[in-house]
Amino acid sequence: MQIASFEGGRIGVIQDTFVVDVTDTLGLAGGWPPIGMLQLIAQYDRVQPLLVSPDESCPKKRLAHIRLETPLVWPNKIVAFPANYRAHIDEMRNAGMLVSRRPASGQGFFLKANSSLSGPSDPIILPNLSGREIHHECELAVIIGARGRSIDSAQAMRHVFGYACLLDLVVRGKEERVMRKSFDTFCPLGPYITTVDEVPDPSDIDLHLTVNGEVRQRANTRDLIVNIPEMIAMASSVMTLFPGDIIATGTPEGVGPLREGDKLRISIKGVGSMSLDVVQGKDGDHSVWRQPD
Ligand code: MN
Repeated sequence: MQIASFEGGRIGVIQDTFVVDVTDTLGLAGGWPPIGMLQLIAQYDRVQPLLVSPDESCPKKRLAHIRLETPLVWPNKIVAFPANYRAHIDEMRNAGMLVSRRPASGQGFFLKANSSLSGPSDPIILPNLSGREIHHECELAVIIGARGRSIDSAQAMRHVFGYACLLDLVVRGKEERVMRKSFDTFCPLGPYITTVDEVPDPSDIDLHLTVNGEVRQRANTRDLIVNIPEMIAMASSVMTLFPGDIIATGTPEGVGPLREGDKLRISIKGVGSMSLDVVQGKDGDHSVWRQPD
């Protein structure tokens, strides 16, 4: 099943070329804070039959006529794994951009601001930082279903609700990683959530990213250093994972700078794909980016 968000937090199930709006029939929250999708995920056992065969009274709209939004706007957290593909560690080392010499298995994870989330119809807005490179990182997003703490890796997949495409954008440099990765629109997510039942083997998922039609990043989740069950075990050893939490699983080699006018396309087999425009913004400058080393 593909579950999407649109029109200011409406929630719908995709059926062929239509989206069936289940917001009202499921009594999901509209307005602010935008938590309808979190409610749906938390109550999934109860609402799943209603999503498989929605009530006839649910409004139906053509996918082509709506503007898809990020399926998650207000998660409890975005957990992100750095240095989780060997070849990417090598390229960062060669470019002198490695923050730590350790892979994710010995380094752990970081958090990215929730407000950096944007959707499949939103442009990536480059901050106004002259002389700094802003890189794309193509990643599979794991969406948590059932809450849990100290989850054993053998049980971890029971805590997964679904998957989505995710771009982890970053200003390269020596400043705190959270700041470099948390600009608005630095975490495009979408185009919808694909539920676990549609992804038979999460340890064998192809993903790739093109920039202006040219393949820049290509990987398979079998090459992850810390695999999905172990990421869930590691994250939940520190903190409770809640329904709707997002895990950015790390990027393969091929990261590179973005420029105004670029068009990115991220595709993840069995999960989805989305195209994103890159535009130059006016915000972002601050003296913190101009300090000498
Ligand atoms: Mn990343």
